[in-house]
Parts: sequence; C-alpha cells; structure tokens
Amino acid sequence: MPDKNEILEDTVNLYSQIDLTKVSEAACNLTKAITGSQQVALFYWDNDLEVLANHYVSGSVPKQFIDKFVEEFENQQDPLYKIDKGNFNCDIPKEWQPLYCYEISENNELNACLLFKNEKNLDAKDLLAKFRQYPLSTVLNRAWNYHELQQENQRLRSSYEDMEDKTRMLEDQTRKLIQDLTTRDVIRTKHVERERLIYSISNVVRSYVDIQKVLETTVEKIGSTFTVNRCLLIRNAARLPESDQLIEVYEYIDNANSIKDMFNSEAGIEFSHAAFGLARTEDLIEPFLDLNHNLNRDFLIDLDLRSGLIVPLMLREHTLGVLFLHDCALARQWSIDDISLVGSLADQVSVAIENAELHLEQERQAITDGLTGIANRRSFNKTLAREFERAKRYDQPLSLIILDLDYLKVVNDSFGHQIGDEAIKAIGQVLKQSSRAIDLAARYGGEEFCLLLPNTDLPMAEQLAERLRTRINDIHIEGPGHISASLGIATYPAHAEDAETLFRSADSALYEAKQSGRNRVKTATT
Ligand code: GH3
Ligand code: MG
Repeated sequence: MPDKNEILEDTVNLYSQIDLTKVSEAACNLTKAITGSQQVALFYWDNDLEVLANHYVSGSVPKQFIDKFVEEFENQQDPLYKIDKGNFNCDIPKEWQPLYCYEISENNELNACLLFKNEKNLDAKDLLAKFRQYPLSTVLNRAWNYHELQQENQRLRSSYEDMEDKTRMLEDQTRKLIQDLTTRDVIRTKHVERERLIYSISNVVRSYVDIQKVLETTVEKIGSTFTVNRCLLIRNAARLPESDQLIEVYEYIDNANSIKDMFNSEAGIEFSHAAFGLARTEDLIEPFLDLNHNLNRDFLIDLDLRSGLIVPLMLREHTLGVLFLHDCALARQWSIDDISLVGSLADQVSVAIENAELHLEQERQAITDGLTGIANRRSFNKTLAREFERAKRYDQPLSLIILDLDYLKVVNDSFGHQIGDEAIKAIGQVLKQSSRAIDLAARYGGEEFCLLLPNTDLPMAEQLAERLRTRINDIHIEGPGHISASLGIATYPAHAEDAETLFRSADSALYEAKQSGRNRVKTATT
C-alpha cells in the first residue's frame, strides 16, 4: 500500500500534466504501481462508446488483443472488474491473466478504461479503493478535454487556413477578372475614342471643298491631336495644274520654328521626292542612323527634330503627298496605335484631298474656255458686272477691248478648221501674255475675244489695243502665214453708264473697225 507521501507525489505528478500523452503515461505508471503490472493499456472512447478515439499502451501489449478488446468492449455495471469468458469473448493470453478493466468516466464527457494485469492479485474492491485515492478521472478528463480542444483548434485552424486559401484564390480570381475587365474596358474605350477621333477629324476635313481649307485643317487637327511640335503636309505640286511651286507645304507649329520654306530648296525638293516614294509609314528617331530608305539624313538634322513620323497620303497607289509629324523635344517612340491611327487619318485625308482637287478642277473647267485655256463667256459676263460696279464705287476708269479675227471663214475654208483653231489659240495666247493679273482675257464666242482692263483709262487701253493688233500681226500660222484682227474699245465713264452699254459700245467700235477695212483699232464714239 503506498504511503501518504507517495500518494501525494503521484497526485502532484498527475495534476502537473495536461498533455494527453503525458497524462496517459502517468496514469499507466500509476496503474503499474498499484497493480504491479508491467503491461497497461489505456483506451479513450467517443461519447457513444462506438469508436476508439485514442489509446495509450505501456509495455508490450499485442496489437491483435487490443483490436479484439476494442471490438468486444461493452461497459459493465461495476467500474472495476475482472475480464474473463463471462464478459469477454476472447482468449486472454496467459501472461495477461488475471486481466482487469477499470472504467473511468466523468460528467458524461470522459469514457476511458484502463486494462491491466492484476499482478498483486488484489481483489476488485481493494483495487478500486486504491485507484480512487487518485484524481484519475479529473486529470484524464481535463487532459482529454484539452486534447479535444487542441484537436478542435487544429481542425478550426486547418479549416480556417482552407478558407484563407479559398479566399485568397477567390481574391486572385476577382482581381484577375477586374483586371481583365479593366483591360477590355480600356481597349474598348481606346477603340471608341479612336473611331470618334477619326470620324470627327475626317468629317471636318471632308466638309470643305476648298482645297486650302482641307489642307490647313488637316495639319491643324492632326498636329493638335497628336500634340506634336510640327505637323506638315507636303504636297507634290508638280502634278498640279498651274502651280508655280514644285513642293507645296502646309504647316502647323506649336513651340517650334517654321521650316516650311526649307522644302523648296534643292535639298528640300530632293527630300520631298524621296518621301513621296515611301510605300508605308516611316518612323524616325534621332540620330536617324537606322535609315533604310533614301531620306537625306543631313536635311533631317537641319529640320531640328528629335523624332518624326512620315505618313504617305496614298490614293489608288498614287501618292498625293505626305504627312510629316515632328516632335522637337523628345525622341518619342511612336506606338503601334499612333501609327495606325495616323494611317487611318491619312487615308481619310487623301480622299478629302482628291474630292477637293476634283471640285477645284470642275470649277476651273466651268469658267475656262477649253480651246484657249482663258476665261469663257460666262466667267467674262460675271467679271464684267463685278468690275463695273467696283469701278463705279471707287470712281476708277474701266476699259474693254473686243477683238475679232479677220477673215476666219476664209482661213477655215482654205486651210481647214484645224488651222482656224490654231489661229484662235494663238490669239488666246497673245491676250494671256499681254494682260496684267487684274485684267481678264476671255474668249467670248467663236472667234471673238474680250479684254477687260480695270483701272485703265482710254489712252492706256488704246495703246494696249494697238500693241495687241501688231502682236497678232506677228503671229505666224502654217498655211495662211499671217493673221489679223479688228479691235473695238470703250471706256467707263466716257462711253457708258452701265456694263451692257460698255459692251455694246466696244462692239460697235469693233464693227466700225471691220467696216473701215479690218486689222485696226477703233474707239467708241460718245
Ligand atoms: P470677218 O473678218 O468679217 O470677221 O470675217 P470672218 O470670216 O472672220 O467672219 P464671219 O462672221 O463671216 O465668220 C466667222 C467664222 O468663224 C465662221 C466660223 O466657221 C468660224 N468659226 C467660229 N468659231 C470657230 C472655231 O472655234 N474654230 C474655227 N476653226 N472656226 C470658227
Ligand atoms: Mg471674224
């Protein structure tokens, strides 16, 4: 029988533990001490006594026996009893006999049992009394609860970690989704903005039929949209009728000097023609070393830009000119978006240029005589009415010379209609060459011409008419050789108070010239 001190020591030992394994070990050691057994097994059951929740074995207890015990176990009325054939359907190994079981329970929470050999052969009552000296059930219960709590804690932690993982995954997916949506949104917004930009710029550009307006608006809109320092539209003027320049340049500048005039120099013309030869958009970045085309690097350097974009204005494989964008402050890397946007705009601008050119040509044809290239009757009538009003308003003289080829019928009849045409064309040429910018030379009818002379008094008009007459005499036409013309002159205010009278008076003077022998100048009578 353990003395009081031993009991106290064992009790302290039991109470000082909380960990289930350690408490189980202490319980087994205590059982060994009470029973003298070297082999002790401790089982913990779930609440329904269905499943073995945990077990602890001290000494060599055969596993097979443990499994069988667990399978057959049913709790008995007495807390401590001997296991024999009566309550256990299994052979008990000799070395474990006599085998006892002590069932420990507390507050309906703990169901444990100790299995041990009663080496000291104490009877059940004595054994129970010894066990009850120790707070076994409290300590086991406390360790069991602690163990359960730990397990629960573990379960909670792992399910919390699981949840955390899932939350993190969901967060990642959501972030990716938002990112995708944002990217898609940005792309769509960009696309819409781009379409709107192309639409608005091309709409403005195409709304003008006046070619100057088209070109000026193009450089201004594209220049400000792309926030460049210069936007140039370089046009091949050599292909345009009646252009006195080889290269025509429209320029938008912002914080940069004008370089417009440099393009009509020898180097500028050469550079422009090389640019007209480009088949696709070319981006240039200082120091312009990677040029794989014919653009003159020295000329580029003279233009004082850090980076540039040359975009051909093409229409049906025909180059109308180029757009030339400059950044003078930054060696800007042009994005694919920029290049494609400016390319689309260039296509729209090319169509607008062609429309405006067609319109200009139609207008020109409407006021021009096809055979001679000078103004036609319609244009003359309009100008006469306008100039007469102006002369009256500013009290300036206005003279009119009407001129008719002599004997054209004879020329036609003798040398053919084509020779007659040659004579008419030659007169048109003389009139064009002899008139100032403010004068208007026109073919009024078949072989009848008018020369309207603003701010020209009668003596000046007479001098000019006489000069014209001699120049016509000097014309040589294959066939008839020489030709001549008769001329009639009338002046405002001397001969007329209105445009019709001025015309009639000059026409009468012409009739006079014809009557008095042709190849002469006659002035209207007052
Ligand atoms: P006159 O000195 O009196 O002016 O004699 P004319 O033969 O020039 O004048 P007339 O009025 O008798 O005949 C005008 C001629 O001019 C008749 C017409 O065939 C010819 N004519 C008119 N327009 C053209 C044209 O565009 N080309 C040619 N080749 N002949 C024309
Ligand atoms: Mg005639």
